[in-house]
Amino acid sequence: MARGAKIIVAGGGIGGLSAALGLATRGCRVTVLEQADAFGEIGAGIQIGPNAFHAMDWLGVGEAARRKAVYIDKLVMMDGMSGEEIAHIPVDEPFRKRFRNPYAVIHRADLHGVLLDACRARSDIALVTRARVVGYANDRAGASVRTEKGDAYAGDAVIGCDGIRSRIREQVTGGDAIRLSGHVAYRAVLPIEKMPEDLRWNAATLWAGPKCHMVHYPLQGWKTFNLVATFQTEVDAVGVSEAGTREEILSRFGNVVQRARKLLEVPTEWRRWVLGDREPIENWTDGRVTLLGDAAHPTHQYFAQGACMAMEDAVCLADKFDKTNGDLDAAFQAYQHDRIIRAYRVVLSSRMLGRVYHAEGVERKIRNSVLGAKTPEEFYDGLQWLYGGNGLTP
Ligand SMILES: Cc1cc2nc3c(=O)[nH]c(=O)nc-3n(C[C@H](O)[C@H](O)[C@H](O)COP(=O)(O)OP(=O)(O)OC[C@H]3O[C@@H](n4cnc5c(N)ncnc54)[C@H](O)[C@@H]3O)c2cc1C
Repeated sequence: MARGAKIIVAGGGIGGLSAALGLATRGCRVTVLEQADAFGEIGAGIQIGPNAFHAMDWLGVGEAARRKAVYIDKLVMMDGMSGEEIAHIPVDEPFRKRFRNPYAVIHRADLHGVLLDACRARSDIALVTRARVVGYANDRAGASVRTEKGDAYAGDAVIGCDGIRSRIREQVTGGDAIRLSGHVAYRAVLPIEKMPEDLRWNAATLWAGPKCHMVHYPLQGWKTFNLVATFQTEVDAVGVSEAGTREEILSRFGNVVQRARKLLEVPTEWRRWVLGDREPIENWTDGRVTLLGDAAHPTHQYFAQGACMAMEDAVCLADKFDKTNGDLDAAFQAYQHDRIIRAYRVVLSSRMLGRVYHAEGVERKIRNSVLGAKTPEEFYDGLQWLYGGNGLTP
């Protein structure tokens, strides 16, 4: 293995920090460039499947993440129109035994914090803030980036981990468009005492309604509940963390039973995301530059797998670097070869799940009938490809 390769990572989110950790443990020196004033994550929850724990174990942060997680008993789908349960997937001991790791929920800042602590503990990772990358260049010696302030960072390779609006991707692809879906997500975190008592379930609960759905689960040692409410509308842009209004969100859940809808009346502050993804592409790499996480395969959140895939990417990339003895060109090709199929399977499955969650009329009846008839083992069999992997399995 070539020791001491110098890697520039653009973006210090979950993907960028995971990439830095993975590559540093394989002998690279990594510089992470983050546009924000400080490294951090938004104040909301995230679900992480067993595959993410496999990846975090490989990166050496699995135990630290496990200490911050909440272990739910099941994933529940409720029919928002009738108020009845459609189906549930137990994620208790038999699930953990089968997939060799738990399904859990965690605060994003805690997950990001675990990765950040691990990066900070290493002398071979440099973390730089207020460095907004605006472009890259390939040259004979490797690749470099330049920032908005005019600084240049040169290395043997560049990894674009700069999210759905990636500047690195723009240059790699020549500028492919974000795909607008018309889906909007509202997010809030409630203190436990504000959560209606009859909804304090130890589950990731999804209420499926016509053209809308909402998800809630406990967080932070049961001190808070995470709430995400999504609906379909007409939008012509993608937006991040704008202020949302109670009127808009309530008007979109008019057909949902009061037991669930009343939850939407509780938050005094909502943040609003206009969602999008991108069409799959067959190449993420330009010379010594490649993409990772949302920069490569932004996805809707319906499979709860975007961050899990970013961590898997990091494992795969570091492993390929190792297996090719530090031949970065070969490593990037092998990495994208393996990851494109798996990550885009998640992207396309997420689109399909959006349709399932928002079904109405006959589609709703079919959904309820098909999902309601499944046994836990049948659900597990259908999820084996996903939860059985860790980034090393294509
Ligand atoms: C409502 C919602 C719910 C979700 N729930 C889940 C879930 O339950 N489970 C799950 O696994 N995933 C979930 N996801 C997806 C997950 O949030 C993303 O897939 C994940 O955060 C991607 O990580 P990333 O590091 O690739 O990108 P980002 O998180 O977007 O990080 C990119 C980083 O790069 C920085 N950056 C951007 N541009 C530049 C630049 N030009 N120069 C330097 N720095 C830059 C940003 O500031 C940021 O720090 C959800 C997403 C949404 C919207």
